[in-house]
Amino acid sequence: MTPNTDTPADRELLGARIAELMPRTLAELAELVAIPSIADERVVDPAECVRAAEWVRAAFRAEGIPANLELTPDGSYAVIGHRPGPEGAPTVLLYCHYDVQPILDEHEWLSPPFELTERDGRLYGRGSADCKGNLVAHLTALRALRGDTVADDPDAYPVGLLLVAEGSEEQGRASLDRYAEAHPDLFRLADAMLIQDASNFANGVPTITTSLRGAVDVVVTVDALEASLHSGEFGGAAPDALAALIRMLATLRDERGDLAVPGIATDQVWPGVQYDEQAFRDDAGMRAGTERLGSGTIADQLWARPTLTVLGIDAPPVVGAVAAIQPRAAAKLNLRVPPGADAAALRDALIAHLHAVAPWGVGVTATAGELGLPFSADTSGDAFRVLSGALTDAYDGVATVTSGGGGSIPLTTTLARINPDAEIVLLGVPDPESRIHSTNESVDPEEIRRIALGEALFLARFAALGSSDRGPTPTARR
Ligand SMILES: [Zn+2]
Repeated sequence: MTPNTDTPADRELLGARIAELMPRTLAELAELVAIPSIADERVVDPAECVRAAEWVRAAFRAEGIPANLELTPDGSYAVIGHRPGPEGAPTVLLYCHYDVQPILDEHEWLSPPFELTERDGRLYGRGSADCKGNLVAHLTALRALRGDTVADDPDAYPVGLLLVAEGSEEQGRASLDRYAEAHPDLFRLADAMLIQDASNFANGVPTITTSLRGAVDVVVTVDALEASLHSGEFGGAAPDALAALIRMLATLRDERGDLAVPGIATDQVWPGVQYDEQAFRDDAGMRAGTERLGSGTIADQLWARPTLTVLGIDAPPVVGAVAAIQPRAAAKLNLRVPPGADAAALRDALIAHLHAVAPWGVGVTATAGELGLPFSADTSGDAFRVLSGALTDAYDGVATVTSGGGGSIPLTTTLARINPDAEIVLLGVPDPESRIHSTNESVDPEEIRRIALGEALFLARFAALGSSDRGPTPTARR
């Protein structure tokens, strides 16, 4: 792609400030990664999450955002702060989350997960990309925008700012959703929402995510016997709960790997940017000889179609397993629901299918978790247009692309329902190499710099539109 040669003046100024701020940005990222803020008290002392929340509160207060710790229904704290803008200025919601995924197998990490470590230009650590890298990008953008103006100067920022740093995003408990529903007036202040928890399609390619799959977890339990039985004495005739569960799970996909659940369509087509076959193999770390799953293109499979993953199975582990038939077995399934599909209907179809395919008269119970609805962004508004241009300038002229998100951010649908007039745009610092949620998560510091610059340019330019230019009411500009 040809770089844009005429650099806008705000790009020069903000770009220089951000380059200067980057050492501090990365030092703060290291501080934040060092706090193991996994929002699961079975894994980490909840005090660590409070420590992270307090870090976030102090950092944003120092930038003039009057942030506070707000208790949400699951017991986690969201860091929330509202700073009104100058008269007539729009308000922009800045979203990120400070909690992180568990580290999985510690031995797979090449460096300690909570010690930000540089290797070949990338920074490794849990949360470095998802989402602490985005959190420090917000801070950096604000600092660049403010320049030398003191943080409590009423004119420090040209826009109103609403900070939302969630504390249990990775747990899928929709706790901030419940908080937002209980405080709708706060979330209705926003004219635009920067949901910085998405990814770039490729390193160096600015990306706005315009659709997200929804998700629902289903736990299925199979009961067959009163107690475990000797596999020699009873095996062959006694109903085996684990064998029944394996048969049931095997019916969920066909030979090609497509989902094969009656009532769940799998023929949708992705209309946007396509995902190169070889790039996908590399990004996913597929072993030589393995085939990718499903018919259709990779983009179809990832962004337009449903999928189902077995997340866990309750069965005796190999070490310590004895020669016994299992009386009971369970699996946790994760169903991803594409935009346009009815999430509740897909969940019900999956549960009905599990009951229908259960063999040998075994007892089956299936319970579903919180329903995360799919999201599809409106791309016709000012925020989308201004952000596309700002990102392109921040990425030295590389055109901004729109991609789907295979993952789910249920909060986006909740926010869209509470404040349908706000434009919601999704972006973020991870690239495919970031391996978010996996071991050896990493971030390219250049992506933090470029996203922070794009964000600062966006805030300045969106403010410059003024509220009057954007139409008499937010609804009128749709
Ligand atoms: Zn995230």
